[in-house]
Amino acid sequence: MTGTVYLVGAGPGAPDLLTLRAARLLERADIVFHDALVHPDTIALAVHADKIAVGKRCGKHSTVQKFINKRLIDAAAKHAVVVRLKGGDPMLFGRAQEEIGALEAAGIRYEVVPGITAALAASAELGIALTQRGFARSVALVTPRVGAGEHPSDWAKSAAAADTAAIYMGAGQAQEIADALQSAGVPASTPVAIVENASLAQARTLFTTLGALPNLADKALTGPALILIGTQFRAKAVAASIHDAAQDGESLTPGNPRRAAGGAT
Ligand code: SAH
Repeated sequence: MTGTVYLVGAGPGAPDLLTLRAARLLERADIVFHDALVHPDTIALAVHADKIAVGKRCGKHSTVQKFINKRLIDAAAKHAVVVRLKGGDPMLFGRAQEEIGALEAAGIRYEVVPGITAALAASAELGIALTQRGFARSVALVTPRVGAGEHPSDWAKSAAAADTAAIYMGAGQAQEIADALQSAGVPASTPVAIVENASLAQARTLFTTLGALPNLADKALTGPALILIGTQFRAKAVAASIHDAAQDGESLTPGNPRRAAGGAT
């Protein structure tokens, strides 16, 4: 008998932003392999499972990934319910396809359980819709990150072509992002919102413009952060103004008060 491997989305951070299906699978799980970013309370739902951290945060991925693939296959030989728990949605920037490929090659059954991706949690945190009637009709989910030995992509062109862009894994490359998007024709004055730790109590939001985005390097972001680009982010940047839910008045452009609201849990 071989078990089933469930690739499960853990959502953006807050443990209650999890699907019922994910919660029920965690309760039934015999073994859980989880990413570093998954909240401890979410992992704790797997009451009788062995819990194994296989988190990898940027860099040195390939060998680690092969090792994870092998562990999933080995686990399915011993356990009925194997859960691979990934941050956000497993099918977005989560290397799910490599795991699916390895499971298919080994003839192991798998199922994917979707989760709330970071871009949606960031939009909720801001209270600003990613699509807006009349002017924002398309959203690009992109990353500038290119792994070792991978072909570079035209991510900036896709981001520039969409009305709204959500940039994953980009907080450490603010300068490159600002340069690439301006080269792709996005004006320096385009509004930018940055959301760190979306959905968590320590959520932080910052507003700036594409031209000033390189100043992000000074902002000491420590948690996962999403960069959102689009004209709809101007209104709050100017009116409610640059705010920071965690620290007084911090902003990328000076002299603005902060908003009162914070994250959930
Ligand atoms: N599969 C995940 C994305 C994994 S890539 C998903 O669907 O959300 C990891 C990147 O996601 C981080 O570098 C960051 O850009 C973004 N991210 C994940 N959690 C986040 C959060 N709580 N707040 C802001 N960005 C987040």
